[in-house]
Formats: sequence, structure tokens, C-alpha cells
Amino acid sequence: MGKKYLVEYDRDGCIGAAACVAVQPDQWTMVDDGKADLKDSKKEGKNWFKEIDESELEKYKDAAESCPVTVIKIFEKDTKKRII
Ligand code: SF4
Repeated sequence: MGKKYLVEYDRDGCIGAAACVAVQPDQWTMVDDGKADLKDSKKEGKNWFKEIDESELEKYKDAAESCPVTVIKIFEKDTKKRII
């Protein structure tokens, strides 16, 4: 089994640049309030979280890198080590 990762999304900090949507349109969508939603994520405290598999990591990394305000972060699930 591959590793698991956690995507953490600070939706409040999103400025609606839509770069994430352009890079990974199957997971990010722009909604009426001008911010992006992350598909199947759950809110915990202030941020939104989603567990992903290793096979999905590259695309999420691309989305995180594309975000101009770096509100998308990715961690290794086990070690909590930040990947991006
Ligand atoms: S790229 Fe960043 S700022 Fe732009 S919509 Fe996505 S999360 Fe929001």
C-alpha cells in the first residue's frame, strides 16, 4: 500500500485566482463566493482537509504550487511532515 497524505486548505485565505482549478479541475471548483472548493474535503477548525493516496500526490502538488497565496499545503499523514 502506498503512503497517505493530507491536503490542508485554508479556504479563508483563497483569493479566487482559480489556478488550482486550471491545474486540477477534477478536484477544485470555483463557487459563488469567489473562492475555490476542494472536492470531498472536511472542515476541521478553520481549514479544510482531505486524505489522498500517493498516486494522487503529484496533481495536488501541482495545484498547491500554482496557488499564488499558498493556502494549499500537503503533509505526510504518518509523520505530519510538510511536503509543500
Ligand atoms: S489557486 Fe489558491 S487562491 Fe486561487 S482559487 Fe485556488 S486556492 Fe484559491
